[in-house]
Amino acid sequence: MDFSFTRAQVLARDMARSFAQAELAPYAQQWDEQARFPAEAIAKMGPLGFMGMCIPREYGGSALDGVSYVLVIEELASVCASTAIIVSVHNSVGAYPIYLMGSDEQKTKYLPDLATGRKLGAFALTEPNVGSDPASIETSARSDGGFFILNGTKTFITSAGTSDTVIVMASTDRAQRGRGISAFIVEKSFPGITVGTHENKLGIRASDTCELIFENCRVPRANLLGPEGAGLRAALNALGFGRVGVAAQAIGVARCAMEAAVHYSRERNQFGKPIGSFQAIQWMIADMATEIEAARLLTLRAAKLKDEGRPFATEGSMAKLFASETAMRTATKAVQIHGGYGCMKDYVVERCFRDAKVIEIYEGTSEIQRLIISGSVIKK
Ligand SMILES: Cc1cc2nc3c(=O)[nH]c(=O)nc-3n(C[C@H](O)[C@H](O)[C@H](O)COP(=O)(O)OP(=O)(O)OC[C@H]3O[C@@H](n4cnc5c(N)ncnc54)[C@H](O)[C@@H]3O)c2cc1C
Repeated sequence: MDFSFTRAQVLARDMARSFAQAELAPYAQQWDEQARFPAEAIAKMGPLGFMGMCIPREYGGSALDGVSYVLVIEELASVCASTAIIVSVHNSVGAYPIYLMGSDEQKTKYLPDLATGRKLGAFALTEPNVGSDPASIETSARSDGGFFILNGTKTFITSAGTSDTVIVMASTDRAQRGRGISAFIVEKSFPGITVGTHENKLGIRASDTCELIFENCRVPRANLLGPEGAGLRAALNALGFGRVGVAAQAIGVARCAMEAAVHYSRERNQFGKPIGSFQAIQWMIADMATEIEAARLLTLRAAKLKDEGRPFATEGSMAKLFASETAMRTATKAVQIHGGYGCMKDYVVERCFRDAKVIEIYEGTSEIQRLIISGSVIKK
């Protein structure tokens, strides 16, 4: 597989790198501490094309390929993991399913605003009683003339408070379980939808994560996304792509932790020498660098397969699993290298450590990625 980047890919990566340094770096720590949504930064990303990366130009997108997409997400995450997940969720599971499965009317109505960042997208699958087993969702959608009536609660939804549209999974036929789940494009202004608890989180604190409550929420039949009963397949496809972005996010967090650890190991002296001269520290840094490179290769491979129109679900799961666990291991070592200072909020490794833990959980936990990967390997 050839990983020499095209000019367009390098341009996208460098633009994201400059943007992250100028617009995220000065504020990321403060956003994390205050759990403040980075609204100003998100607004500036529309004109740069970062809010419609996978959407064709005819719908206002920037039509970047999957490789550019992961390069951009890594750059954003290397400075602010919260901003990176807001952008990743918006692109991969908030807007892309409409492009993949939407009717012409739905694409024309929703994509231009989403792809240019005028509106923000979200994706709602998880419920209080249902996470890893999405076929069991309890939110119902009852057909009523020209509408579906949605009832139920979604939980831990990224950008639930700040988004304008949400792709919602609801059961149109509970008896059919997975085959009875349908996807809907729900505008937050529809009657019967309220934003519930804003979660106070361990990490990824600047992204807003809330409950969404549906009480007789009337969704026009025209907003059914794809055929009735095809929602779970749509959700799993969307998450398959979402995971590649989350893997890139994890690499960004790991890179941030490693760069801070390398810097600290040069500056901090003990026993009359920089701690970076001790083999114990050098080995930790060697492991970090190797794992980050391996995670990046897995992620690029998944993105490249997608670009070639080939199956990439297993490779995406491998990338998400390995990259998120790499982020956790790297951040843990980076805190260790900082000693007591690593536990202090003045040092970025403390934030990386908290962010990395969350990345091992959302868009499918490590255990679920292992289920997907082993299922595919055993089937072969
Ligand atoms: C910050 C954040 C943002 C999120 N954003 C979104 C969002 O935008 N949209 C959305 O729909 N969801 C979102 N989620 C939800 C997230 O995807 C779920 O939390 C995740 O899928 C796990 O579900 P759960 O929390 O219900 O855990 P559970 O499914 O209850 O799992 C609990 C534990 O059991 C393990 N487990 C479960 N089943 C198995 C099994 N068969 N074999 C082995 N182990 C198993 C899990 O791996 C985990 O360790 C978000 C979560 C967080 C924390």
